[in-house]
Amino acid sequence: IKKIGVLTSGGDAPGMNAAIRSVVRTCAYHNIKCYGIYRGYEGIIDGDFVEMGPRSVKGLINKGGTMLKSARSKTFRTKEGRQLAHDNLIKAGIEALVVIGGDGSFTGSMVFNEEYNFPVMGIPGTIDNDIFGTSHTLGYDTALNTVVEVIDKIRDTASSHNRLFFVEVMGRDAGHIALNVGIGAGAEEILIPEEDLGLERLLESLRRSKQSGKSSSIVVVAEGDKIGKNVFELKDYVEENMTEYEVRVSVLGHMQRGGPPSCFDRVLASRMGVKAVESLLEGKSNYMVGIKNDVMDLTPFDQAVKGKSKINKELLRVSDIMST
Ligand code: ATP
Repeated sequence: IKKIGVLTSGGDAPGMNAAIRSVVRTCAYHNIKCYGIYRGYEGIIDGDFVEMGPRSVKGLINKGGTMLKSARSKTFRTKEGRQLAHDNLIKAGIEALVVIGGDGSFTGSMVFNEEYNFPVMGIPGTIDNDIFGTSHTLGYDTALNTVVEVIDKIRDTASSHNRLFFVEVMGRDAGHIALNVGIGAGAEEILIPEEDLGLERLLESLRRSKQSGKSSSIVVVAEGDKIGKNVFELKDYVEENMTEYEVRVSVLGHMQRGGPPSCFDRVLASRMGVKAVESLLEGKSNYMVGIKNDVMDLTPFDQAVKGKSKINKELLRVSDIMST
């Protein structure tokens, strides 16, 4: 392999830039040319490439978002679109791809690899941590730190006014963010899609907490929670059934995806970039790079896409004990 292309696809996440930097510098280290591809798969189809060297990625390790931009490409979902993409890669002499993105992006890579036997390696970039085959996805640790900091601030208001706050956090169908920030920020209750607490038990728990002398409470709600009510309906329900609380809702939204990556994410991105490029050079393809017990690891795309990242049950118990 003499030329590798790198792209970011799907939702952005802190640490993507650090991963681009790592891919570019690892290529330079091994005397391989590296091309940055703009706007994910859209950029391959449009031939939107730029050659990158070690100095093109200076000052990038601490920046959120992705300098290569990200996009969702409808055209790449079509056979004709992928044909165009393949033609452009061949024309540019690009022989392998590093795709930084989520499970949708990896599905795209898998399809492309099946059709053209084109070498691809994935780096999981999403704050949701919902990808099988790695204990941490890029951006997850940063998001945890961002959210905990915000909940600390919300708590100031909650305790000054004796209020109950429902704080909705991101995570799609996974409760990793909610469970961890819930423990980290000392939430009274944590509602996640993997565990249906039930409305009655939520009320009971809030009553218990009130009786134990607490005057304010934080309940962290994962956006994908399946309690049957959205966070605003939940507020109405609790206010109707527990007049002793004044309830407020805070939906944190996209601020959770931004900001400079944490040190953990910068180091992880650097390690993942090295592993991705060196695995391609070893002739491997169709894998996602991951980290398990602090060791870099490869998971076949089909497993990474189909598998589910499980919630840590021990954390559920810790959270229960902490809200005593
Ligand atoms: P996030 O988790 O942030 O949504 P993602 O990588 O899962 O990131 P998607 O929008 O699902 O984001 O996928 C990114 C892109 O991957 C799509 O816009 C599309 O171009 C490509 N893709 C996804 N699935 C397929 C598929 N089955 N065939 C071809 N391309 C696909």
